[in-house]
Amino acid sequence: MTARIIDGKSIAADLRGKIAAEVARLQAAHQLVPGIAVVQVGDNPASSVYVKSKSKAVADAGMRAFDHKLPENVSEAELLTLIGLLNADPKVNGILVQLPLPAHIDAQNVVAAIAADKDVDGFHPLNAGRHATGLPGLVPCTPLGCVLLAKTVLPLLAGLEAVVIGRSNIVGKPLVQLLLAENATVTVAHSKTRDLPGVCRRADVLIAAIGRPEMVRGDWIKPGAIVIDVGINRVPGEAGKSRIVGDVAFAEAEKIAGAITPVPGGVGPMTIACLLLNTLRAACAQNGLSFPAL
Ligand code: NAD
Repeated sequence: MTARIIDGKSIAADLRGKIAAEVARLQAAHQLVPGIAVVQVGDNPASSVYVKSKSKAVADAGMRAFDHKLPENVSEAELLTLIGLLNADPKVNGILVQLPLPAHIDAQNVVAAIAADKDVDGFHPLNAGRHATGLPGLVPCTPLGCVLLAKTVLPLLAGLEAVVIGRSNIVGKPLVQLLLAENATVTVAHSKTRDLPGVCRRADVLIAAIGRPEMVRGDWIKPGAIVIDVGINRVPGEAGKSRIVGDVAFAEAEKIAGAITPVPGGVGPMTIACLLLNTLRAACAQNGLSFPAL
């Protein structure tokens, strides 16, 4: 048996197409063009790549991107002043500050300064609290993308055993809330979990968000399981070049799993599509419009 490949690229393209159509409808019906401010501090090469692809996706969807590139040595106070201006600007419906920030800036202060209704990354403590208590709010993009991908295989996750490896605030923890909301039975595994392979073997849905190249082996996977690989790890490749692998040993896993996301081309594209979804959701909420079913 070979697993079905969950093609994140084409699923994300489909979602982006629906978002673009809705953006065009909003503009025609309400003269509203959703806008997102993307703030980058310094020249971290990986951040520059992410920011570029986010800004392109925003423009492709017919939304406005307001890019703010600040020098590495900008002070926290200056950054907070910019956030204050963006909070007050009605053309800006979403604000994203690319992480990581330089060490002299407290990222928690910055995230908390973003107006919660513009927090399209879903990292603000108010949104985390709303999500944890089942209130409406903005949900982090990567976990949202993971659940949407799993549901392309099985639209109903109710009653399934879901195992999440990783308990970060941006991926693992919000995944727990999202999977609970789908009525899955959720286990969170982490660096102190005993018998991790045994825990994983229980999973009908296994989501790996660890940051360790190919750690999850084929024999950790329950036959037929849905495997969602969040990991992005750069490892040495051929001819002195590097390549990207996930947290799951794909070649082994695809022989056992029922469906699996590739890396690259799985969760990554969905993360960006969900950023657009959150921006659209934020723009609708800020303008008193109901959010359309996409
Ligand atoms: P993190 O470092 O904040 O968290 C990693 C988690 O893995 C921790 O909770 C830790 O307990 C757990 N862990 C570490 N070693 C372990 C071990 N040996 N056994 C079991 N658990 C272990 O990372 P993060 O920000 O949640 O990101 C995780 C991975 O996902 C990274 O590779 C990151 O690059 C990737 N990522 C991808 C996207 C995307 O869009 N595809 C978005 C965010 C993060």
